[in-house]
Amino acid sequence: MKVHQVELVISAVRPDQYPEGDLPEFALAGRSNVGKSSFINKMIGRNSMARISSKPGKTQTLNFYKIEETLYYVDVPGYGYAKVSKKEREAWGKMIETYITSRDQLRAVILIVDLRHPPSNDDVMMYDFLKHYGIPCIIIATKADKIPKSKWQKHLKVTRESLNLAEGDELIMFSSETGLGKDKAWDAIKSFYR
Ligand code: GDP
Repeated sequence: MKVHQVELVISAVRPDQYPEGDLPEFALAGRSNVGKSSFINKMIGRNSMARISSKPGKTQTLNFYKIEETLYYVDVPGYGYAKVSKKEREAWGKMIETYITSRDQLRAVILIVDLRHPPSNDDVMMYDFLKHYGIPCIIIATKADKIPKSKWQKHLKVTRESLNLAEGDELIMFSSETGLGKDKAWDAIKSFYR
């Protein structure tokens, strides 16, 4: 998909701030620094859309990016940042839980993990949490350019097994450097609203 129009419509913390309308929404989740911003920038063909992730520890919001009057990417603040207080972590958890459990427009969560390493405990917890609520997931294993091609399959297997990937959830190898997986990722997203 060639994207011409991207608009940050709102940074929301409460349901009454979520945008109106019924465009399909895809939430992006992943630990801080995993490559979430790079993923979305690659997907929409921008070098630097307004910086996506808010700085760790800062006010954390759900950022609704409207893409081409077609869908929303909902950027979820990154998790697993050690310096965040318990209180902030709880507020984060509540905000995500409220969104995920109450938002009809949410079609799937795009969970970004690092292909180089086994998913972290936080990644596994996030995935289990989404599965608990029956949310479809697309797993993006990014930074594939950082490991040799000969190891890709082995790393994919570790990712699949560590997450205990549910049937129907796609695992897509990705690189924001090379664009590997971009078309597959768009196909996976589109399969939820066509
Ligand atoms: P975020 O905090 O999850 O939004 O992470 P960023 O998108 O800011 O990426 C964190 C760091 O990883 C940056 O230095 C990126 O350049 C780098 N990075 C992200 N994706 C890739 C990738 O696919 N390949 C490589 N080589 N580096 C990446």
